Amino acid sequence: MVRGLIGPFALTKREVDDVVPNASAGAFALGYSSYAGPFIVQYVGRADDLRSRLNELVPTDYRQFTFECYPSVRAAFEKECELYHFLNPADNKAHPDCPAGESWKCPNCAAVQETQRGEQAPDSPLLRPAQLPTGPVSQVQASHRHIRSQP
Ligand SMILES: [Zn+2]
Repeated sequence: MVRGLIGPFALTKREVDDVVPNASAGAFALGYSSYAGPFIVQYVGRADDLRSRLNELVPTDYRQFTFECYPSVRAAFEKECELYHFLNPADNKAHPDCPAGESWKCPNCAAVQETQRGEQAPDSPLLRPAQLPTGPVSQVQASHRHIRSQP
């Protein structure tokens, strides 16, 4: 069971047609579950029409799938990105692409880039305390000695 996805189901046309709603956008994960073990995700993806996409994949070496439908392609894209970052599947060689014609950003990558910009920017107010270590550090050392000198 992957967080936020339902399944796993056998990756066969019959199962896909049974459980995946028709003509809905969605995100999916492919993999397998060992006996009494967790679902092992090997690949994640998304589709504007999830049922058609999964049926295109059959037959395949992947044994099972989990999925979730979303009301918009953008929501499916953001879920795919979350799965990619969270699960780091072995068979995803590259970061998920933004759907053609759109300029959506991966929410996870945007968070990472914010952090990196902050670390590189000398004027970042978040870094000033660490760059000016004079007063606070000596106070910390003083109180540390004080604590250790107690019984
Ligand atoms: Zn990302």
